[in-house]
Amino acid sequence: MIILNANVITLDPKQPRAEAIAINDERIVAVGSNEAILGSKSIDTEVIDCRNKTVVPGLVDSHVHMLEFGFLLQELNLRNTKSIKEMQKNLHEHAKKNSELEWILGGRWDEEKYSEGRYPTRWDLDAIIPDKPVFLTRVCGHLAVVNSAAVKLARITRYTKVKGGIVDLDQATGEPNGILRDNAMDLVSKLLPKPDRETYKKACVLACQNAVKSGLTEVHWLVNSAEEVRVLQTMHSQGKLPLRIYLGIPVKMLDEVTYLGLVTGFGNGMLKIGFIKILADGSLGARTAALMKRYSDDPKKRGIMLYSQKRLRGFILKAHTSGLQVGVHAIGDRAIENVIQAIREALEKVPRKDHRHRIEHCSILNAELISEIKELGLIAAVQPHFVVSDTWTVDRVGPDRARWAYPFRTLIEKGIVVTSGSDCPVELINPLLGLWAAVNREDKPGESLTVEEALKTYTINAAHASFGESKKGTIEKGKYADLTILSEDITKIPRDKICDVSVDMVIVNGKITYSRRHN
Ligand SMILES: [Zn+2]
Repeated sequence: MIILNANVITLDPKQPRAEAIAINDERIVAVGSNEAILGSKSIDTEVIDCRNKTVVPGLVDSHVHMLEFGFLLQELNLRNTKSIKEMQKNLHEHAKKNSELEWILGGRWDEEKYSEGRYPTRWDLDAIIPDKPVFLTRVCGHLAVVNSAAVKLARITRYTKVKGGIVDLDQATGEPNGILRDNAMDLVSKLLPKPDRETYKKACVLACQNAVKSGLTEVHWLVNSAEEVRVLQTMHSQGKLPLRIYLGIPVKMLDEVTYLGLVTGFGNGMLKIGFIKILADGSLGARTAALMKRYSDDPKKRGIMLYSQKRLRGFILKAHTSGLQVGVHAIGDRAIENVIQAIREALEKVPRKDHRHRIEHCSILNAELISEIKELGLIAAVQPHFVVSDTWTVDRVGPDRARWAYPFRTLIEKGIVVTSGSDCPVELINPLLGLWAAVNREDKPGESLTVEEALKTYTINAAHASFGESKKGTIEKGKYADLTILSEDITKIPRDKICDVSVDMVIVNGKITYSRRHN
């Protein structure tokens, strides 16, 4: 048995605060005062003293692309570099640390921040890495710089022409200078070695480690390939999964999943089939999110639906009738409307009370859509930090519609289940950053959540969104011992300091999977 001694925020209305938690194997067996819990101590009880720390129910990220995150973690991140010189220095260190790599990949550099006042060139990279190919994308993703080894491998010359792309040439010599724009990047990127099982495994392990370190005890993991699922099953069977996983499976695999008769919840406590992920529209940033009216900053555009309504309806109906939950990416109000319509029709054909279908992102709403979401019992799976990052929302949709962008408080007051995630690697995985964003709404202070409400969107609401509220999401006797231990009481410190709180320990299924002292 383990007894954890701490300031406990239980989120259990019957006993909101406690001083100690007793854990036996994977379950919480008692929660209460120090006196009561420590009294039950026996000879083989381990006491973990966290008296000046705060324990909350294990934090859950409800929308995260873990494999992509894992790949990104292995690449060179140049986001904070201020000069080509610094880029070179980082490149050198990265290559030294990862000498086994055949390719050096990385990016997120921005020449506008560079003191040299120019783009880096292949020769800048050659000075550091002359022998193996280097491919470094710009922060926008529409441009890359490569070294001479990559230029040679891709057989790029001063005469190379690419449809929809440009190979930049050096002004003095007329030779390719290593800058590739748009489709010209494919000349090199198509040569990248296809990741094998080991590469997938490394990415999954790294992503999991980082997620746990950020305080997460569970992720709703959006998979893209069967290989990922295989790797996760291997990790689980070897007892190496450090957190719970609820799978979001792409609609391209819907036929296979239904063919096998798999339903939401198939699996076990650590790894199970969650929802079928369907993309309804694009993004606001790229003006591809489907709006009812035109974009305010580009009146020619209304965004795009990725499928016809008939196909969307078909996917949702098939998943729904097969016993699967759906999670439909819908950002624009027109996309959300169409998704609601399709789910309504599925429910009329095959009524099911506890379907828990989700709308991922659920960004641009209005009063009518919110009422329909409530009426159908849909879950809003939002990303609080988008509020901070999407600085162009008002430009895109104008002030009237922006009023209805991410209206967290309105959704909660309506009684809609709101669950939070990061959409990492779009945003950082850190759940405290999302929590901070949800309670400090500068765009619309009236839509801010209280700390406790925001915490619920990362715990009990996320448990509800994965059909697990009887086993997870609060600190109560009988539930899984999934706990996040924080350096501060987030309900007591100034709201704007929440993003500075650190994660001291993470317990998943009764086991310590991260401890700051030991890392
Ligand atoms: Zn996403």
